[in-house]
Amino acid sequence: MEFQYRGNELYCEGVNLSDVAGRAGTPCYVYSWAMIEKRYRAYDAAFGDLPHTVCYAVKANSNLSLLRLLAGLGAGFDIVSGGELFRVLKAGGDPAKVVFSGVGKTAVEIEYALDSGIFSFNCESEAELALIDELAGRRGVQARIAVRVNPDVDAFTHPYISTGLREHKFGVDISEVEGVYARALGLKNLLLDSVSCHIGSQLLDASPLFEAIEKMRALVGRLRAGGAPIRHLDLGGGLGVPYRCGDEAPVIADYGGRVRAMLAAQDLHVMIEPGRSITGEAGALLSRVLYRKRNGEKEFVIVDAAMNDLLRPVLYHAHHEIIPLTKNGRPDITADVVGPVCESSDFFARDRVMADVQPGEAVAVCTAGAYGFVLSSNYNSRPRTPEVLVEGEAWRVIRKRETHEDLIRGE
Ligand SMILES: *Cc1c(COP(=O)(O)O)cnc(C)c1O
Repeated sequence: MEFQYRGNELYCEGVNLSDVAGRAGTPCYVYSWAMIEKRYRAYDAAFGDLPHTVCYAVKANSNLSLLRLLAGLGAGFDIVSGGELFRVLKAGGDPAKVVFSGVGKTAVEIEYALDSGIFSFNCESEAELALIDELAGRRGVQARIAVRVNPDVDAFTHPYISTGLREHKFGVDISEVEGVYARALGLKNLLLDSVSCHIGSQLLDASPLFEAIEKMRALVGRLRAGGAPIRHLDLGGGLGVPYRCGDEAPVIADYGGRVRAMLAAQDLHVMIEPGRSITGEAGALLSRVLYRKRNGEKEFVIVDAAMNDLLRPVLYHAHHEIIPLTKNGRPDITADVVGPVCESSDFFARDRVMADVQPGEAVAVCTAGAYGFVLSSNYNSRPRTPEVLVEGEAWRVIRKRETHEDLIRGE
């Protein structure tokens, strides 16, 4: 693993994280490039000779340096906004490998994407199809469309990151998709040769994904019979990562192998949009203990990172392991780990059995590489953290810590 102890010191690849915390300051995000690269290559290899494109889901972690390195490996990108398209293009990503997802694309975003020559739009409503048709027509181009299908499969994940049930805002109900394609075949500026789905995120059991793929495979047959020349099938993202010590996550090679078997001989180019499973385990948030205190029976570890830096514990009740950068040999304690923000919801852990870290000592909040920095804010006028990238024995800052001046820019 890329994060492990050497003696009492926690390392990321060949870098002592106490050194990073001391020199880059805390709080600070750290990412392992070796791990991100390994995960991307695992996806690419898992699909083998099945024609495929791995489109990294930019929203999981959109740092330019990471996008640039992924683009260098040949990655495509799944974007959900014009801002993400801007990042991908700045990072040297190939627009011809970009898919644009999202339930609320604006006309300005659609025009930007058409002008940039992206691969396809994953569309979520007939109104969106009509708008793209009109905007493509004005430019004299054809826009490739994949209607995002809601396959009505329960992903058994947190309700906020489950997307594949009829009650969710996402996609077009699978029972209505054929009608949508039939009507859209009359829109001359659309190329209807693709179809897509994405049922949710952080799936620790991959079986709902296979259930969805089975439904999509059958749907492709029906759409083709209805006259839509389907050649591309986008399976979305969703593979989970082990946040909790002892969690078991799906193995990318197994997932890809099974998909390959299910979709062989279908004459399909397959796209996948993994985010979390590429960057999640590759990142940690480093933070230093400011104070210890006890209120009644409760022990508190007050750290210098807060909910504005890492929102997942508050937003999803997510568990993140918290481990010391230097083991100090004292017996474990049971404590709440909290930040300085003025909200009772500002916590990273509650009643956690953990190392007895004292003021001045630093910790790593693990598995924070996806939906970490990207969800951070300036709440309480806290400058956002730097991001650091480790490559082997070397590390560098890939986003500077914000200053007080940054806080008021634009006001
Ligand atoms: C968020 C999202 C993804 C990435 O999901 P992960 O669980 O991070 O792999 C892929 N596709 C779409 C459409 C998404 O909204």
